[in-house]
Amino acid sequence: MNQKERQQAKSRGLLDPSISLGRIAGVRIGLNWSWLIVFTLFVWSLAASYFPSRYPFLTGGAYVVMAVYAVILFFGSLLLHELGHAIQARREGMQIDGITLWLFGGVARFKAMFPSSGAEFRIALAGPLVTLVLSGIFAALAALVPASQALHGVLAWVAYVNLVLLVFNLIPALPLDGGRVLRSILWRAKGNFGWATAIAADIGRSFGYLLIGGGVLLFVLSGAFTGAWFAVVGWFLVNAAEAERRYAVARGALAGLRVGDLMVRNPVTAHPDQTIAAFVDESAGASRHALYPVVRDDEFIGVLPFGRVAHIPRDEWPRRAVSECMLPPDEVPVMREDDGLIDAFAKLGKADRRRGVVVRHGRLVGVLSLSDIERVLAERPASTAAAPRHDPRAQAS
Ligand SMILES: [Zn+2]
Repeated sequence: MNQKERQQAKSRGLLDPSISLGRIAGVRIGLNWSWLIVFTLFVWSLAASYFPSRYPFLTGGAYVVMAVYAVILFFGSLLLHELGHAIQARREGMQIDGITLWLFGGVARFKAMFPSSGAEFRIALAGPLVTLVLSGIFAALAALVPASQALHGVLAWVAYVNLVLLVFNLIPALPLDGGRVLRSILWRAKGNFGWATAIAADIGRSFGYLLIGGGVLLFVLSGAFTGAWFAVVGWFLVNAAEAERRYAVARGALAGLRVGDLMVRNPVTAHPDQTIAAFVDESAGASRHALYPVVRDDEFIGVLPFGRVAHIPRDEWPRRAVSECMLPPDEVPVMREDDGLIDAFAKLGKADRRRGVVVRHGRLVGVLSLSDIERVLAERPASTAAAPRHDPRAQAS
């Protein structure tokens, strides 16, 4: 891994579902470790200052219990917001990778590009609509239980925080929901996805810098921790907006191209029963790749990363079989010949390995590397695009 790849892996790690929470309505739900930080911070600040200042006659234990319930309800609200996006996306015929809750809320991950401006518009609005309804429900419940201060405090806070979430998400800055709504409207108006993305992403970047500037100012002037938080959110927005813009440029450059157009046919493969020595001397020959598909009777059964071979002492190579170093097929991106090159670009960009295999009915037909696609992009004037670091198809909050 070089510096750039490490960087990419790190920013991806933030969105990886580290803890699986199972499925809701068929959608995989995951929790990123970073959410545990948020959980702790929220509980701490609610129990230590927010609730005691508003409901001064309760006990310390009551504040902690209130804080835990409030944050769990907030967590559930975020999940429902993302499920709103995900369920609408499925209605539009899009495949869903899953939902992950992380540092700044939730992210619904889609397997492909929004099929149309109308679809993006409806998918982007579905989440905020859920949040609006939730905020109303919690506010109404809070009004119904004025007798219990503790319960009232929890419900009122959850209603309030959902409202904040709603307003923040509707700011027309990519990658926020409002930015997607704006992009889809512009996209529809001119029929130009790249132009629409450039505008919404510019707003996203400006808004991100505004948050960073305001956050730093707040932190320096008043020492408020919220300032640091704003700055980090701003930094995330700037990066994500930039990834959106790069993705749109790449999409323009790769339009109409399929995986089959660029893949390398008849790639060097390894046989599982072959010894490492035989593979390196005979099969690999002059070609040196980071990764080789392992094939038995044309059937794709796994991958051999050269890094694993290198870990075995050279004098053991004649005695060790390829199958000992082999990884299962799902360790690499698997594509089909008629997949769009832009989808392959996003897939390879977020994968741990930069080389994927192309199969037809389980049989290997070729390989495709991220560098092959990047070479195509480099030849097009306006695009020095690197693979998107944040998955541009991810729907933030
Ligand atoms: Zn959303």
